[in-house]
Amino acid sequence: MQDRGEILLHRLRGIVGDAGVLSDTAEMAAYGTDWRDMFHGRPLCVVCPATTGEVAQAVAACATLGEGIVPQGGNTGLAGGATPDDSGTQVIISLDRMNAIRRIDPIGMTVEVEAGAILQTVKDAVADKNRLLPISLAAEGSAQIGGLIATNAGGVDVLRYGMTRALVLGLEVVLPDGQILRHLRHLRKDNAGYDLKQLFIGSEGSLGIVTAAVLRLVPQVRHRATAMIAVPNISAAIRLYERAQTEMGEALSAFELISGAGLDLVAEHMGRSAPIQGADWCLLIEAGSSLSGLREACETLLETAFNEGWATDGVLAESEAQADALWALRESLTEAEAKAGGAIKHDISVPITAIDGFLRDAGDMLADIAPQARLNVFGHLGDGNLHYNVMNVTEGDAGRVNAGVHDVITRHSGSISAEHGLGQYRVSEWARLTDPVERALSRQLKDTLDVHGVMNPGKVVPIMREAHD
Ligand SMILES: Cc1cc2nc3c(=O)[nH]c(=O)nc-3n(C[C@H](O)[C@H](O)[C@H](O)COP(=O)(O)OP(=O)(O)OC[C@H]3O[C@@H](n4cnc5c(N)ncnc54)[C@H](O)[C@@H]3O)c2cc1C
Repeated sequence: MQDRGEILLHRLRGIVGDAGVLSDTAEMAAYGTDWRDMFHGRPLCVVCPATTGEVAQAVAACATLGEGIVPQGGNTGLAGGATPDDSGTQVIISLDRMNAIRRIDPIGMTVEVEAGAILQTVKDAVADKNRLLPISLAAEGSAQIGGLIATNAGGVDVLRYGMTRALVLGLEVVLPDGQILRHLRHLRKDNAGYDLKQLFIGSEGSLGIVTAAVLRLVPQVRHRATAMIAVPNISAAIRLYERAQTEMGEALSAFELISGAGLDLVAEHMGRSAPIQGADWCLLIEAGSSLSGLREACETLLETAFNEGWATDGVLAESEAQADALWALRESLTEAEAKAGGAIKHDISVPITAIDGFLRDAGDMLADIAPQARLNVFGHLGDGNLHYNVMNVTEGDAGRVNAGVHDVITRHSGSISAEHGLGQYRVSEWARLTDPVERALSRQLKDTLDVHGVMNPGKVVPIMREAHD
C-alpha cells in the first residue's frame, strides 16, 4: 500500500507534470534552507506551478491529505517563514515559474504582475515607462513580489511611500482549501465591503498563497540628493531628522542610521571603505523628486547641522556613481555581518523619540548579561526602525539576549518585528509578549481561514493552543 507522501507526490505530478515536482534531496537543498543558513527543513517535495489554477489544484491536493504547505518566493526572508519543518512531509510551493509582468499602465500608474516576478525586474520594466515601484531593499535582485506582499516588506523608501501594504491595490490569492480569491482591481478607491486583501498582506503565507497582484506606481524620481553625515550622538541625529523634514518635506525619502562599527565591518569584510572615518554614528540621507533644487536644500541642511553642532563631518554625493557608492555601504551591512560570524538579529521599532532611551536601556541590559557582545546597529531611523544586531554572543547566552532586547522594546512600547515578520524565528517571543486578546483573535482568524491548519503551519501563529491562549 502507498503511503500518504507517495500518493501526494503522484497527485502533484499529475497536476504540474513530472518536471514541475522536485523530490531529489540534492535538487531540493536550496529550498530547504533560508538565506542566512539558520533554519533547515526537509520537505517532501518542491512544487513549481506555472498558473494560478495549478497552484489551486496543488493546494487542494495537500489539503485533502492534510499535509502542510510552505509557500516560497525568492527565499530571502529573514524570519524562517519560507523554510519547512524537518518532518519530510511538508510541500514547498515555489512561485518561481509564475513571473510574468502582465500589464503596465503609466496613466493609471499601476502594474499587474504574477507573484513570482522579481522586484528588480519589475522596477526595471516600469522605469522604461518613467514610473517607479517604490520598494527598495538589498535583496531586490532575488525577492519576489509575492514574498514582499506576504511579508509586507519595508526597506529604505518607507519614509516617503509607506510599507508594501500602501502599494497594493489588488490581489489574487489561493486560499488554504484551494479556492481562488480574485481581487485584481486597478482601483485607488474601493470601499465596497471588507478590504479582504489586507488579511493576506503581511500574513507570511499563513492564510493563503498570493499568485498575482496589482501595485500602485509613482512618478520616476529624476533628481536626487544623497549625503552621508557623521553625528556626535543619537539625539543630534533626531534633531537633524526634524530639521530635514522641515527643509525637504515630502522629498525626503530615506533617513538611515549606520554605526561606525558597522562601517568598519563593511571595510574589513566587503572591501568598501566609507568617506567618513572614526565616527560613532553616521546618517545616510536621501531626497528625491521630479523637480530640481534638492541639492541646494541638502546643502542648507548640512550647513545648519554643522552650525547647530548636530554634525561633525559630512559628504554630499557629486554624482550618481558617488550616491550609489554611499548606498553600497548601507546595503553591504547585512552581508558583512554574516561574513564576520553573524549576529542575534532584532528588527525592532519604537516611536522615533524613544530611540535614544531604547539604545541606552538595551546597552545597559547587554552590559549585564553579555558584556563581551559587540553591536552592529543600523536601520531606518526615520521610521523608528533599527536592526539591533548583537554579535559575539555564545550559544548559551543567545536566548537571554534575545528575550532581554524584546523586554526592553516592550517597555518602550515598541514592536519586536518592524518589517521582517515573525516567521518561525519570532513566533514564541510574539506569543510571550502579545496581549491575550490579540493572540486569541489571531488564532481565531487562522482557524477560520485555514480550517485544517495546512497553510504554513507554525508560522506567525503558534501551532498548538498553548498556555498563552
Ligand atoms: C540582504 C537582505 C536585505 C533585506 N532587507 C530588507 C529590508 O530592508 N526590509 C525588509 O522588509 N526586508 C528585508 N529583507 C527580507 C526579505 O528580503 C523580505 O522579507 C522579502 O519580502 C522576502 O521576499 P521573498 O520573495 O524572498 O520571500 P520568501 O523569503 O520566499 O518568503 C518570505 C515569507 O513569505 C511567504 N511567501 C513567499 N511568497 C509567497 C506568496 N507568493 N504567497 C504567500 N506567501 C508567500 C513565505 O512563506 C515566507 O513566510 C532583506 C533580506 C536580505 C537577504
